[in-house]
Amino acid sequence: MVFKKPRDWALDLALALTAGIALLAVMMVAVVLATGAPCVADAPERPQEPKITAPGPKVQDCQTRELAKARDITGEHEVRVDWVTPEAANRELQGEAAGWTEPGRVVIVTDTPCEYVAAVAAHEFGHVAQNRSAGSIPQAYWRYGAKEMERVAQCFATAFDLHTYEAYGVTVWTDCTGYEKAAASELLKWVR
Ligand SMILES: [Zn+2]
Repeated sequence: MVFKKPRDWALDLALALTAGIALLAVMMVAVVLATGAPCVADAPERPQEPKITAPGPKVQDCQTRELAKARDITGEHEVRVDWVTPEAANRELQGEAAGWTEPGRVVIVTDTPCEYVAAVAAHEFGHVAQNRSAGSIPQAYWRYGAKEMERVAQCFATAFDLHTYEAYGVTVWTDCTGYEKAAASELLKWVR
């Protein structure tokens, strides 16, 4: 005779509840990670470039042309570039900048004079290449350090002989140290 153990409904219920609570906990952690991660990554992702003043809240034809020129000269055609008004930039950055780099996009402020747009874009493309090379923006900060990250991006821009603005002590290629020249040259492999 086979003894059939009666179902223990209380145990089943307890197991189901435990499983349910565990699943909820995992989902909550996933939600916190998903929504919290960008905030953590946000802080170092917006290097504030020196402000270059000029009028004009709208994108001018010469700015569009200069951006296209920066793409052609550097070879960076993949990253998205968005224009924002100085007001929006001030709101987003809580400070002044000609441009900055975020995951997946570069932002250029619309009051950047035409003659500097290509240099600003190239500098930001340097950051894009740094981030690809290191794996992420925080990792790039870790690799270069905040100061060298900026100087190497600026060296990347000056390497193309664009009309560059003074930033981080680098206006022309010869302002770069041997390390910075090597690091900027290495970035050429990471433009897309
Ligand atoms: Zn920068």
